[in-house]
Amino acid sequence: MKAPPFGYRRVDSAAEAVESLREFGDEARILAGGQSLLPMLNIRLASPSHLIDIGRAGDLRHINTDNGSLVVGAAATQWSVENDSGAGGSAPLLTEAIGRAGQVPIRHRGTVVGSIAHADPSAEIPCAALAQGATMVAATSTGERAVPADEFFQGPYMTALADDEMLREIRIERWPDGTGHAFEEFSHSHESWPVVTAAALVHLDQGSIQRVAIAMSGVAGRPLRATAVEQELTGQAPTSELVADAAQSATADLEPFSDVFGSGTYRKRVAGSVVRRALTTAIDRAAGDRAAGTNNGGSAR
Ligand SMILES: Cc1cc2nc3c(=O)[nH]c(=O)nc-3n(C[C@H](O)[C@H](O)[C@H](O)COP(=O)(O)OP(=O)(O)OC[C@H]3O[C@@H](n4cnc5c(N)ncnc54)[C@H](O)[C@@H]3O)c2cc1C
Repeated sequence: MKAPPFGYRRVDSAAEAVESLREFGDEARILAGGQSLLPMLNIRLASPSHLIDIGRAGDLRHINTDNGSLVVGAAATQWSVENDSGAGGSAPLLTEAIGRAGQVPIRHRGTVVGSIAHADPSAEIPCAALAQGATMVAATSTGERAVPADEFFQGPYMTALADDEMLREIRIERWPDGTGHAFEEFSHSHESWPVVTAAALVHLDQGSIQRVAIAMSGVAGRPLRATAVEQELTGQAPTSELVADAAQSATADLEPFSDVFGSGTYRKRVAGSVVRRALTTAIDRAAGDRAAGTNNGGSAR
């Protein structure tokens, strides 16, 4: 099928983009990399009156790592963020997740912010952004507001963005030294969409977990954070028993959807495995086991 007719405006700046959103009203959509929106138009899942193309807006292409935090503009491609050494230093979990999202040609055009705004419940980048505690900066023609990741994802393809808001950039605070990260996913083949993913960050100090974040996708209509389990883990020594219990608790109350990739029951079982693997790897990395090539007894393996 072909896309329905639509108006097209290419903008050169963020200001022009939000002014166009105001002008065209709730029938308009932002066009970023087009890797999700154009297929949706072609199969008539979306029929916006106007597309506002931000791909060449110079003030939306930034990837900044001032003060160690990462700031990614709405037009920065997944490939450019994945290969930015500063981004990898500040938010390694996010860059690892980007490398798992689709194929290289897709990542050359698709944007990090576009994936977050699209809010596919199985997608890798929203899951990593949630675990990283990203702040979403939403802009209109009259101002901007910051939305925490916990409040941003509201359901399948639904976010906290209002019709006249553009997601202008995301901001991610760097976790302290002594933090390990891991992104794990299960998919039927390397090329196919993930069935379930898990993202984990663990900060160890003096042999105990000082701070931890766990997020999952593919298990509900939006990516989920395992906040109660994070609180239980904090202050504890990272043992394999603790990690196994945490993975079990993180997934116990899930009621995942079923689709062609797997039933809800299957997703729930797989989720337990990927959460356990993600936590184990993050703990090992935090402890420096991998770099040292040893297992120092504090490991969850
Ligand atoms: C063959 C193929 C394989 C893929 N595999 C995967 C995969 O394995 N995992 C995965 O997660 N994704 C995958 N994708 C999707 C891809 O990563 C998309 O790039 C991503 O989902 C959306 O980013 P985009 O920049 O292309 O956004 P677009 O397609 O331009 O936009 C997507 C939606 O978000 C909105 N939007 C975009 N930017 C903004 C903004 N700044 N503010 C407000 N709204 C905005 C648009 O209006 C639209 O509704 C795949 C795509 C293809 C074609």
